[in-house]
Amino acid sequence: MDRREFIAASAGVAIAASLSSCRFPAAPKTKAGSGRMTLSFRPYELTLAHTFTVSSYSRKTTPGVQVEIEWEGLTGHGEASMPPYLGHTVESVCAFLSKVDLGRFETPFLLEDIMAYLDDLSDGDSPAKAAVDIALHDLVGQALGVPLYKMWGYNPAKAGPTSFTIGIDTPEVVREKTRECAGLYKVLKVKVGLDTDEQMIRTIREITDLPLVVDANQGWKDRAKALDEIFWLKEQGVQLVEQPLAKERLEDTAWITERSPLPIIADEAVQRLRDIPALKGAYSGINIKLMKSAGLLEARKMIAYARAEGMKVMVGCMTETSCACTAAAHLAPAADFCDIDGNLLITNDLYKGMIVRDGLMVLPEGPGLGLKNV
Ligand code: MG
Repeated sequence: MDRREFIAASAGVAIAASLSSCRFPAAPKTKAGSGRMTLSFRPYELTLAHTFTVSSYSRKTTPGVQVEIEWEGLTGHGEASMPPYLGHTVESVCAFLSKVDLGRFETPFLLEDIMAYLDDLSDGDSPAKAAVDIALHDLVGQALGVPLYKMWGYNPAKAGPTSFTIGIDTPEVVREKTRECAGLYKVLKVKVGLDTDEQMIRTIREITDLPLVVDANQGWKDRAKALDEIFWLKEQGVQLVEQPLAKERLEDTAWITERSPLPIIADEAVQRLRDIPALKGAYSGINIKLMKSAGLLEARKMIAYARAEGMKVMVGCMTETSCACTAAAHLAPAADFCDIDGNLLITNDLYKGMIVRDGLMVLPEGPGLGLKNV
């Protein structure tokens, strides 16, 4: 079954009936010469290869919605992914997308106007907005015949490494996962924030001396203990720390950042551009994810703002197919650190896009996102 047939099959009555708030329009066809865009979407649940545990939850699947925008015979692909902690659902994403009328815009090149229109529709709904934004960028690149990185003037040879994430688990599983990935990646990302941090790091260090980054996902409670741990982590070859404390604890985070030998990166504390000014001084940098930023247009503004403030830039992702991960990877040449492994953690990817070769991200050469069907 090719992807188009799969889409047709997936938009079946059973799914539609179980998600009564969602609308599943028949696959739209752009009318010849109409110059108007049409949007279609469908739920697509992502299956994780391993149960994934961070400091606040475990999960085996992630809900998602796949989006297509058709215009002038071209099809742009986008995606919304909804990890549980952001509070979005398939229903909320479909409800938002049902309100979107792209027919009022002549071309996908009106990115600023279209994204402003989406923000007028609601204050939140970032994953749904990201899905539209990614599909629009894909269309724009295809219409111009260039990959997005080329459109933005980025050097694809500077895409660099992506870290690969190891969730919190038993020493046996951590050992097994580390063995599996140690030869494939140049950096590993380790989830910490429970009382097993030291055991996690020591177990990984039995297997490999690869550089590590750690993500506490707001799990550390005491700032002095967190700082002690950060000094110890530096001795263990850790390069940065993501979100050590609860996102509301700006003053305590600033206290850590001031004394930390490692960069402290905001993740849960930063969603969109408007969140960055308050973080200056409290964090060394920001982790930009398209599902938080409402897509690529705002992500690039966030990079520019962070640079102007002397902050480091990390580009991350949620659990996503190669659609949204490849979109994020197009930003990689402008980032200091990348953690774009969401597509590598699932077993039911729909696309081939950015690949990791010898631990380095290789961006596709095709126009727009450069995606191909699996
Ligand atoms: Mg994080």
